[in-house]
Amino acid sequence: MPISHEPVTLAHIQQASKRIGDRVVTTPLLYAPRLSELCQREVYLKCENLQRTGAFKLRGALNKVLSIAEHGGAMTGVITASSGNHGQAVAYAAALVGLPCTVVVPENVLAIKEQAILGYGAQVIRCGTTSSERIELAERIAAEKNLKFVPPYDDPFIVAGQGTVGLEIAEQLPDAAAVIVPVGGGGLLSGVATAIKSLLPNAAVYGAEPALANDTYLSRQQGRPVDIGATSTIADGLRTSHPGEFTFPIVQKYVDDIVLVSEEEIKAALTTLLETSKLLVEPSGCTSAAAALKLPELKPNEDKGPVVCVLSGGNVELSTVAELILGR
Ligand SMILES: *Cc1c(COP(=O)(O)O)cnc(C)c1O
Repeated sequence: MPISHEPVTLAHIQQASKRIGDRVVTTPLLYAPRLSELCQREVYLKCENLQRTGAFKLRGALNKVLSIAEHGGAMTGVITASSGNHGQAVAYAAALVGLPCTVVVPENVLAIKEQAILGYGAQVIRCGTTSSERIELAERIAAEKNLKFVPPYDDPFIVAGQGTVGLEIAEQLPDAAAVIVPVGGGGLLSGVATAIKSLLPNAAVYGAEPALANDTYLSRQQGRPVDIGATSTIADGLRTSHPGEFTFPIVQKYVDDIVLVSEEEIKAALTTLLETSKLLVEPSGCTSAAAALKLPELKPNEDKGPVVCVLSGGNVELSTVAELILGR
């Protein structure tokens, strides 16, 4: 069992895969002909936008919640602090496992997100507008009521769960030459990189990060986690201000490079995915495709074998999509 100072290994990811089993969808890896033309190499899409709850986050949340249920006889439930994909995933996972769940959301939470969390049977508490206020409250309630806090990325069970995306890619496309992964706090990137470098050691692994939220990029330049404060990218799942303490060393060890993408490049990728692959992908999940489109220019001498873009989620309102596409 990993503790927080031990790195996550392939064995932990395989264990996570067994633990979460068929409670998650083995998402399709689709060939994308038009993107392949544009990128001058074969492009495949790992469709976590088609995952249950609409994003990969369910994998880590389930691995964590199931391990809590396995080990905590006296445990009275779980709590987290996110109105986004992580909050929904924890609510869904807790309901599956039969644990009570509380989600702390911002006072200005979108009704549609609050409804999704309530729909999975969780209790919702509204608090403040910053994530630090919410995390503080969640941790206080956790201590008072003996609940287990489920972090969004900085946790070995979360990383191992997200790494199962990498296990599936290695099985679905053993000759992948590169894998591109959106990066926020780095849970998905560190998990996928661990799996890919263990199983396909010759494949490159890239993180795709908005230029407006370039905390992981800057942290790599400085060799330590850097905090960039509040960010405003349209990729709302990637607005973390700093990489994780647990995830960053893994990113440092396994990830070949971080590719920065502009807001315009994210919007263009969203349009291309919708028009040519018929896939609805939220802005955060489009950063990998946006990065793939830049690779010929950024890495002209790289191996031109197949590249996999992880489309990390699909939770976006149609009114937002219309705005992004029409406002282009
Ligand atoms: C959370 C999230 C990410 C970023 O994941 P991290 O593990 O925080 O790096 C990327 N895409 C989507 C859709 C997300 O919900």
